[in-house]
Amino acid sequence: MKIPLLDLKGQYKTIKEEILRVTNEIFESQYFILGPHVENLEKDIAGYCFSKHALGVSSGTDALLISLMVADIGAKDLVLTTPYTFFATAGSIVRTGALPVFVDIDPDTYNISPAEIEKKIGSMTDEELSKLKGIIPVHLYGQCADMDPIIETARKYDLVIIEDAAQAIGAEYKSRRAGSMGDFGCFSFFPSKNLGAFGDGGVVTTDSDDRYEKLYKLRNHGSHPKYYHKMVGGNFRLDALQAAIVSVKLKHLDNWTKARQENARKYRELFKDAGLDTAVKLPVEKENRHIYNQFVISVPERRDELCRFISDAGIGHDVYYPVPLHLQECFSYLNYKEGDCPVAENAAKHTLALPIYPELSDRQQEYIVDKIKAFYLKKVS
Ligand SMILES: *Cc1c(COP(=O)(O)O)cnc(C)c1O
Repeated sequence: MKIPLLDLKGQYKTIKEEILRVTNEIFESQYFILGPHVENLEKDIAGYCFSKHALGVSSGTDALLISLMVADIGAKDLVLTTPYTFFATAGSIVRTGALPVFVDIDPDTYNISPAEIEKKIGSMTDEELSKLKGIIPVHLYGQCADMDPIIETARKYDLVIIEDAAQAIGAEYKSRRAGSMGDFGCFSFFPSKNLGAFGDGGVVTTDSDDRYEKLYKLRNHGSHPKYYHKMVGGNFRLDALQAAIVSVKLKHLDNWTKARQENARKYRELFKDAGLDTAVKLPVEKENRHIYNQFVISVPERRDELCRFISDAGIGHDVYYPVPLHLQECFSYLNYKEGDCPVAENAAKHTLALPIYPELSDRQQEYIVDKIKAFYLKKVS
C-alpha cells in the first residue's frame, strides 16, 4: 500500500469545481495583487481567528518578519523563542538584526516551556534584559503553547508577543484562538498547512488598530500616501488568486479539522489495540482544541531504522525537526552547544510524523500501525 504523508490531490478533487469558478473569475478580471478577494479573506480570517484585524501577506515567514518590523525589533535586540520549530521562526528574528534566545521545550507538547522562559530571563544580565524585546511562542503541530504564563511573563518584562501560529489555525487555548492571544498572530498558507493555498501566502492578525495600520503600510514598502514613504517596508503582498483559493478552502476547514481529530482518535485506539501505547509515545493533548497539523509520535529507540522500515512499506512520514535550531550551523556564532536545550535535542532524535490528513482512511491507518507493530516485534524477538 502507498500512503503519502499528505494527499493534496485527494483534497483537490473534493473542491475542484469551486476553485475553478473563482480562479477563472480572476483570470477574466486580470486583477492579481491584493484587491477584493484579499479583503474578503482578511475579514473571514479575522472572524475565524477571533481577532479584530487580519492582513494578508506573502507567506508565513513574511508574517513573522513584518510583525517583528512593526514591533520595532531590530539590531542587537533579543527575542525569546523555541529551538524546536521550523527555521523561519528564528530566521525572521535574525533578519531584523536581532538575536534569538532559545528556550527549551515541554517534553509532552514540544512547545516552549513557560518555566524555562522564567529561568532564562532570571539568568540574564541587566544589559541583556534591557535588550530583551519580545517572545515568539510557536503553536507546534496544531496545539497551542501554554499561553497564560507566557502572557504573564511578557507583561512583567514588557515584551511583545508574536504568536507563530503557522501550524495552528483554529487551535484553541482556554477557548481563545491561536493568533488572538498575543500582540500579533502569524499564519501560513503554505500548501502543507491545514489551510493551504496553491502557492505561498500568509496572514497576520492583531487586535490593535495602530499595529494594523503600520502592518498595512509596511506590506507595501511603507508607502502612504502612494509614493510617499515615512517608513521602509517591503513587498509583503498577497495575490488575489491565493486569497480566493484560501477563501474557498476556509469554508471546509472545520470539517477537515474534525477529520484530522477523528484520525488522531483512531490512531490512539489502534496503537492501544496493538499493545504499543506505552512503547510509542503518542501526542499529548493538553490544550482544548488541537487541530493536528501533524501527528507526531516519539519512539524510545531506533527511530531512523523505523523510518526506513515504514518507507519500504510505502508509508510517507517526516521528521520535524532533525536539528534543533540552537545547533544549526548558521547560528554557531550564538555559541550554543549540545546539552543547552536537552528536551528539544531529545525530541529531534526520537520523533516522527505520521500521515494524519483528513482523507486518510481507516484501512490506511490500520496498515500504518500494523507495520509499526511488525517493526517492533521483528526487532525485539
Ligand atoms: C510553515 C511555517 C512557517 C513559515 O511559513 P511559510 O508560509 O512557509 O513561510 C513558520 N513557522 C512555522 C512554525 C511553520 O510551520
